[in-house]
Amino acid sequence: MSGVVEALRRRLGEEAVLVGPAVERVYECDAYTVEKRPPLCVALPSTTEEVRDVVVLCREHGVPFAARGAGTGLSGGATVAGVVISTRRMNRILEIDAENRFARVQPGVTNLQVSKAAEPHGLFFAPDPSSQHVSTIGGNIAENAGGPHTLKYGVTANHVLEVQVVLPRGEVVRFGSRVPGAPGIDPCALIVGSEGTLGVVTEAVLRLTPKAEWVRTALAFFQTPREAVRAVALMIAEGVVPLALEFMDATFMKVVSDSFGLEFPAAAGAFLLMEFDGTESSTEAELDAATEVCRRCGAIELQVAKDDAERARLWYARKNAVGGLGRIAPSKVTHDGSIPRSKLPDMLERISEIAQRHGVVVANLAHAGDGNLHPCMPFDDRDPDQTARMHRAADEIMRLCVAFGGSITGEHGVGLEKLPFMRLMFSEEDLEFQRRLAAALGADPLCNPGKLVPEVGA
Ligand SMILES: Cc1cc2nc3c(=O)[nH]c(=O)nc-3n(C[C@H](O)[C@H](O)[C@H](O)COP(=O)(O)OP(=O)(O)OC[C@H]3O[C@@H](n4cnc5c(N)ncnc54)[C@H](O)[C@@H]3O)c2cc1C
Repeated sequence: MSGVVEALRRRLGEEAVLVGPAVERVYECDAYTVEKRPPLCVALPSTTEEVRDVVVLCREHGVPFAARGAGTGLSGGATVAGVVISTRRMNRILEIDAENRFARVQPGVTNLQVSKAAEPHGLFFAPDPSSQHVSTIGGNIAENAGGPHTLKYGVTANHVLEVQVVLPRGEVVRFGSRVPGAPGIDPCALIVGSEGTLGVVTEAVLRLTPKAEWVRTALAFFQTPREAVRAVALMIAEGVVPLALEFMDATFMKVVSDSFGLEFPAAAGAFLLMEFDGTESSTEAELDAATEVCRRCGAIELQVAKDDAERARLWYARKNAVGGLGRIAPSKVTHDGSIPRSKLPDMLERISEIAQRHGVVVANLAHAGDGNLHPCMPFDDRDPDQTARMHRAADEIMRLCVAFGGSITGEHGVGLEKLPFMRLMFSEEDLEFQRRLAAALGADPLCNPGKLVPEVGA
């Protein structure tokens, strides 16, 4: 194994290959801290050619490898007991083409950097994971990241036009097209969401979206979670599709109130954070229609953000809410399941019953418009009994998502965490087809092993 470190140092230079106890500690997991695998080393390539050579050297030495962006993944996707290929040095925006509305970027660029670079042109990169100030485009592509505003504009897959990839055997290929209707099979669509198992993305061309002229942000407070998520399903069924439609329960409301100083009505047991955009008249009409649905579903109070500063404050609290769980316990698992919107009221009640039965805290927030629920579990990982109860509750919640006709993940990916649940959703034939498809693209047991699709008999 150590031979590969020497070989990488000869190719990349001494300072571009990190080893040692501190490196092992930092890179032993991503934001899913339950499973840890210290890496052999961390390689810091700067170019596509260097990435290709790192991949080739790993193969020659029979060492597993995985790409890593910011390590904010919530399912253990970048965790590997081998060579971590960090994209930290590949962090340049190569081109903004405002006329044709695209950005060409390296994979280590953060999501927010793209929107900031596009802003002077009245454009932005629509997928906005709450981690967007640090998570990278490579990671967003690999996980097909979503976010609060993907309800209206779609997830990462809808905004990636082209990718350049170093495949697991070292070939450098470009997939996709900057213009619509390109001929042939589109492997670009297979790369998005493949969790780094089909190679390392070294460049991407991203669709940029024009900013709307008018935006309104509002909070609707309800006494119960059931009323709040009922309003979500009804709103969309009646044709009101906000830009964002986020849900937070009472546990999270207390966390964001304590962490960010927001004040909420005392009787509120849940809220919806809603945002609308378009022309002034269309936006105001949507806000009115949504408000009317919320009232019908029992909203006890509605507040509309007065200005951009107030909007920013609400979004800051929402996007940093999960971090606030540190007030409750030293560790947490942020679960992620999707279910049909109409099932959200029953789902939340069943989660509450599961939490009580296992004696664990479950704080719920959701990209509710998409039915994408994040039951978050703060716990103390130094306590084996608490950890075991957390896992049992999580297991039941995942099974419930599938039983309700949903998915074991909405946006955080399968990684290590959800691998055992894949068979809840797919038959052996389904999985075998996925394996064959991956093999056709050159998937290799050394490239991010043990992720996404379970092996035969595993
Ligand atoms: C507080 C917080 C909030 C979050 N909110 C959201 C949210 O709203 N929506 C959402 O979808 N996710 C969210 N996430 C999860 C996470 O931020 C996303 O999955 C993000 O896309 C990961 O990006 P990253 O750069 O951190 O990737 P990493 O964690 O480094 O890697 C994730 C996966 O991508 C692969 N990968 C990384 N770079 C490349 C590359 N260049 N080529 C090929 N594969 C690569 C890795 O191998 C791994 O499998 C959140 C996470 C946190 C901690």
